[in-house]
Amino acid sequence: MNILLLGSGGRESAFAWKMSQSPLCSQLFIAPGNAGTPKYGQNVNLKATDFEGIKQFVLANNVQLVVVGPEEPLVKGIHDFFLADDQLKAVPVIGPQQEGAQLEGSKDFSKQFMQRHNIPTAASRTFTRDTLQDGLTYLATQGLPIVLKADGLAAGKGVLICTSLQEAKLELVQMLDEAKFGEASSKVVIEQFLQGIELSVFVLTDGNSYKILPEAKDYKRIGEGDTGLNTGGMGSVSPVPFADAAFMQKVEERVVIPTIEGLKKDNIPYKGFVFIGLMNCDGEPYVIEYNCRMGDPETESVLPRIESDLVDLLLGVAQENLATKEIKIADKVAATVVCVAGGYPGDYLKGKTITGIENVRGSMVFQAGTTGEGEEVKTSGGRVLAVTSLQDNMFNALQQATLDASRIYYDGMYFRRDIGFDLV
Ligand code: AMP
Repeated sequence: MNILLLGSGGRESAFAWKMSQSPLCSQLFIAPGNAGTPKYGQNVNLKATDFEGIKQFVLANNVQLVVVGPEEPLVKGIHDFFLADDQLKAVPVIGPQQEGAQLEGSKDFSKQFMQRHNIPTAASRTFTRDTLQDGLTYLATQGLPIVLKADGLAAGKGVLICTSLQEAKLELVQMLDEAKFGEASSKVVIEQFLQGIELSVFVLTDGNSYKILPEAKDYKRIGEGDTGLNTGGMGSVSPVPFADAAFMQKVEERVVIPTIEGLKKDNIPYKGFVFIGLMNCDGEPYVIEYNCRMGDPETESVLPRIESDLVDLLLGVAQENLATKEIKIADKVAATVVCVAGGYPGDYLKGKTITGIENVRGSMVFQAGTTGEGEEVKTSGGRVLAVTSLQDNMFNALQQATLDASRIYYDGMYFRRDIGFDLV
């Protein structure tokens, strides 16, 4: 069948790599893709949020499955758009409809969902501009640090961890009264700070049954030793050593099952990936956030560990028979090192020629912020490429991915050499 994948990052490169291996995939299109994705399929010059353009393309090219990489088209309702169109409604979309995508699109919605279904999460309350005074009073009753979250999508910047009451009050006023994050902070969730170690668990669901995919840990800070500014993600590893069988059983019983059952009870159809950001607090899982799609750069470490045919699993989602499918996971370790542009996550360099990808020996290179200009590949984004190595043990995977990243060169290139070494 013909498959259209939406997105352009390292996550989509990993999806394209995995789906193109499936005998069920006759032609893969990636919109818009990057300079690396033509290795796996055909790039299509369409934005992932250009619903009308996507419709014309799907009809003209007999696309039979649409896989959505990033959250934006989902939160904007691409799945609903397909279902509402007579010509498109028979084409399955992997990714939830707008209501389900609210698990990511609104922190208040996701907190209420968790509270309603007794899913362990930090205690919280939500305030609006009208209840700002109550919010300030509430802050004074809480311990420190305290977490303030803009309700809506804020490009990963809407979460503030405040260490003093004064700072928290100031930020709350700025978010609610002065629209610090625009419309996204017209509501603010004030949440108890959780002490622990984070990991991400991924679930694929057809709305009835589910498969738990390999878990992963990502590294968000720009600097080695987890220092400096937050980024989209500097690396990832899977599996996560501290997520042992006992912990993962708690995750399944207390989080995954209540989440899937909660969606059903609330009559929220959901066909796609649920990304569960968890805090392991002394062996107990608490949900920090849901996302309605896979993570980046976690996907680059998760998909290489899945031995089963991903397209077959996605068809199980589309046809609501996921329960009949088996998922086989390799007993190996995947490590991903992300190479970023000089200056990132601030203003960063662009248009730099990338060399040495062909010298990489023991890793896969998933391109992200790249464009192809003739034979040349140039940088075009902050996160330029992801180098992933799959090995028998964690040390070898980490060492190999780090070594292979250093075989690549472009002006201003930077990557962290410590990804995952805290876990071995
Ligand atoms: P979120 O967008 O909700 O995932 O928050 C972004 C990051 O802020 C998370 O990955 C955590 O590192 C941190 N964070 C969010 N909520 C909490 C919390 N309640 N306690 C501690 N850290 C948190």
